[in-house]
Amino acid sequence: MKILVLNGGSSTLKASLREAGDDSPGRPPAPLWEAAAEWGRTSGVARLRARRAGEAYIENELPIASPTDAILPVIRAVWSGPSAVLGSPGEIAAVGHRIVHGGKACREAARVTPEVKEQIRACIEFAPEHNQLELEAIEAAESILGPAVPQVAVFDTAFHSTLPLPAKVYPVPYEWYEQGVARYGFHGTSHQYASRRAAQILGRDPAGFRVVTCHLGNGASLAAVLDGKCVDTTMGFTPLEGLMMGTRSGSIDPAIPIYLVRNRGYGADELDRALNKESGLKGVSGISGDMREIVAAAAEGNERARLAFEIYAYRLVREIGGMAASLGGIDALAFTAGIGENCPPLRRIACERLAFLGIALDRQKNRAPEMDTDIAAPESRVRVLVIHAEEDWEIAHECRRVITAAL
Ligand code: ADP
Repeated sequence: MKILVLNGGSSTLKASLREAGDDSPGRPPAPLWEAAAEWGRTSGVARLRARRAGEAYIENELPIASPTDAILPVIRAVWSGPSAVLGSPGEIAAVGHRIVHGGKACREAARVTPEVKEQIRACIEFAPEHNQLELEAIEAAESILGPAVPQVAVFDTAFHSTLPLPAKVYPVPYEWYEQGVARYGFHGTSHQYASRRAAQILGRDPAGFRVVTCHLGNGASLAAVLDGKCVDTTMGFTPLEGLMMGTRSGSIDPAIPIYLVRNRGYGADELDRALNKESGLKGVSGISGDMREIVAAAAEGNERARLAFEIYAYRLVREIGGMAASLGGIDALAFTAGIGENCPPLRRIACERLAFLGIALDRQKNRAPEMDTDIAAPESRVRVLVIHAEEDWEIAHECRRVITAAL
């Protein structure tokens, strides 16, 4: 079953075509085709790139009046243009959409209906940069593929809908919770995949298996997973809470913004920009939000880059400890996404500081691990895994599950 996956962000729309078959354990097959459009805030131009499996990207520029204009060209590139991989749109069996925010109502992936679209629309106020474009992607796909091709919404928040109330409800006036202020959690599709894959790699039944998944990319979050269900996570009402990230602060004293408003004349937009775009690794180092550049600058003796790395590691260790406590113990720690997969010194420092939990790393294996392997030392009580992030695959997998369940 060929499934087109669409993943809209604040400045990109990524797409891939996946062949989703029966559930077979093991690494997912590579995408048949991938494309992405990227746009700046003001330039009026999007860069579109697309490639067939195993080939180089072919790039071109598109004039766009708004990001919406980039959606149809990305979808059409599957069957037309130099990187086309399908003979006609009729070969697409379904479209799986990543939707960042599903709110309280959307607790699992769902076939798109007018009601589901309404719910996605109702959550635009919680995730304005994402849900709006994602809704437009659904409408564009409907318009070009017609009503016979099923569309499935896969929510980043859904995997966290099992959070127990003490993890979900903030200790603030209860009316805020009733009005929708709650811990929703994000990166759910990645945590769901990584936790299932961790059990698979270790040959464990998910029942009784306690794993902390560490999604460390530009955004970063942890999930505590027991019996295949999420019981705690670090991101909250928005993706700003929790770990230090590339350009996001993660958790800070909530009185800091109040102080800045009262005494430094900050407004909501300035605070939003400062905490989301000018903080984290970038804010502390003054160099970059990209971990590769931080590691390189720290190695050259740059003190602020070193401090940025140290804060990142310190907060990671502290939050993993919190997740392990929420699980009442830990059987496995799984690292995934750009930094999780590719930053051996961070994994080493985190595991050394967590030795008190029974974690012992095989330092040799940690240096250049194969993806989807166990890099713990034989005597380690806790297994340590490096798992290649496969959000698009998980979206295709969920999409197929929803469609076949309805047959
Ligand atoms: P996104 O959240 O946008 O999907 P990724 O999962 O691609 O992001 O992760 C991007 C992050 O991964 C960046 O901070 C990048 O520096 C980091 N990264 C990628 N390769 C390496 C590496 N070899 N060493 C350290 N960090 C890396």
